[in-house]
This record gives sequence, C-alpha cells and structure tokens, in this order.
Amino acid sequence: MGRLLTRSSDRRPRDDAASQDERIHGYLTEGRIRILEVTEDSIRAVCRGLRGVYRMSWDAEDGWRCSCGSSGSCSHLSALQLVTAPA
Ligand SMILES: [Zn+2]
Repeated sequence: MGRLLTRSSDRRPRDDAASQDERIHGYLTEGRIRILEVTEDSIRAVCRGLRGVYRMSWDAEDGWRCSCGSSGSCSHLSALQLVTAPA
C-alpha cells in the first residue's frame, strides 16, 4: 500500500467540490459505468450507484437523461460524459 504522494498537494478546503469530483472519478475507476450502446445519434449506459442502478441515455432530441431523477447533469451523467462524446 503506497501513499498517494501526488494527491498531498491537491488538498483543498472545499470538501464538497472535491468529494463530488472523487465520486465522479470513482464511477469510472471502479467500473461502475457500463456503456450498453453508442451510435451516431444515441448513447445508452447504466451506472451502478450507491443506492441502485441508474439508466442513462443521450439522443439528439432529448439530450442527456438519467433515471436518478436529476434533470440536466448529475454525477452519473458527468462521469459518462467524460468517456463519451456525442457528435
Ligand atoms: Zn443520475
């Protein structure tokens, strides 16, 4: 178990922003995001969150959607948006 030396200079008093950031990256690094389908005009994916599995989608008409109920952007969609790029 090595220490995370690179993070020691990264500490900020704004814990909320940092933990949100870590949650988003956790979805990716812990393999919680599963991309089911990507086409030119749609994306379908699921995210295994702390309280359940959320279904996410994007298409040109409706934009980004997540079944967690948050409209617009949530941490699930933020994570998905880091690894997908609709044209
Ligand atoms: Zn969500």
